[in-house]
Amino acid sequence: MIQLCNVSKWYGGFQVLKDCSLKINQGEVVVICGPSGSGKSTLIKTINGMEPVQAGEIRLNDHRVNDKEAKLPEIRAIAGMVFQHFELFPHLNVLENLCLGQVKVLGRTHAAAQARGLSLLRRVGLHDQKDKYPAALSGGQQQRVAIARALSMDPLVMLFDEPTSALDPEMVNEVLDVMTDLATEGMTMVVVTHEMGFARKVADRIIFMDEGKIQEDCAVAAFFDDIEGRSPRAQHFLSKIL
Ligand code: ADP
Ligand code: MG
Repeated sequence: MIQLCNVSKWYGGFQVLKDCSLKINQGEVVVICGPSGSGKSTLIKTINGMEPVQAGEIRLNDHRVNDKEAKLPEIRAIAGMVFQHFELFPHLNVLENLCLGQVKVLGRTHAAAQARGLSLLRRVGLHDQKDKYPAALSGGQQQRVAIARALSMDPLVMLFDEPTSALDPEMVNEVLDVMTDLATEGMTMVVVTHEMGFARKVADRIIFMDEGKIQEDCAVAAFFDDIEGRSPRAQHFLSKIL
């Protein structure tokens, strides 16, 4: 489903991604963790073409993401993205937030988009909030709307960049629960998070990044239970967060 081959990226003279390669199969849930500034956000955004790269190859399903001819709106519909700060359209109500992309990118009728939007709002437990504007919702509710909005495009993959980092602690679980349900239903997911409880319970694999490199790419059980088998940097990171 996702394949990165020897991907490198520079900001001027600073190399933010160093020869990163990874493969993610359909239905896999992969958690990316690592210290702040290690390149996690940059890496996940290369998957849907939000971050162009100077070297290497990125494939998403049949698309070559870093090709000049790549159809980015299509690619971004296939790979739905959820950010730390929700990024809902503030001037649109909840249901309109869910309809816009369906109408503009997928060419659905307004009625079809609304029907799909409402069914997704029901799924994330927010159908009674459909007429509200984002500012009137809690952070946890806004993030669930953002997930529903990404799902409204019928993505093949969901990308999450620290989806719970900006939330008050009491709202973290309502978002993780929605993500856990999605994983259980078989969605392919890439999740940047430091929620190690979620990682342990839901992920198949953990990728650990440091200084722009993929330092570890291993099964969840190995990552958490064979700490001595991990790289010194991963051990150091784990000792701080576990
Ligand atoms: P993470 O998500 O792991 O915290 P990022 O991918 O956001 O890391 O950033 C990795 C590094 O790249 C950081 O050192 C950051 O300062 C730098 N960086 C990110 N975006 C830019 C940019 N637009 N221009 C220059 N440097 C950037
Ligand atoms: Mg980040």
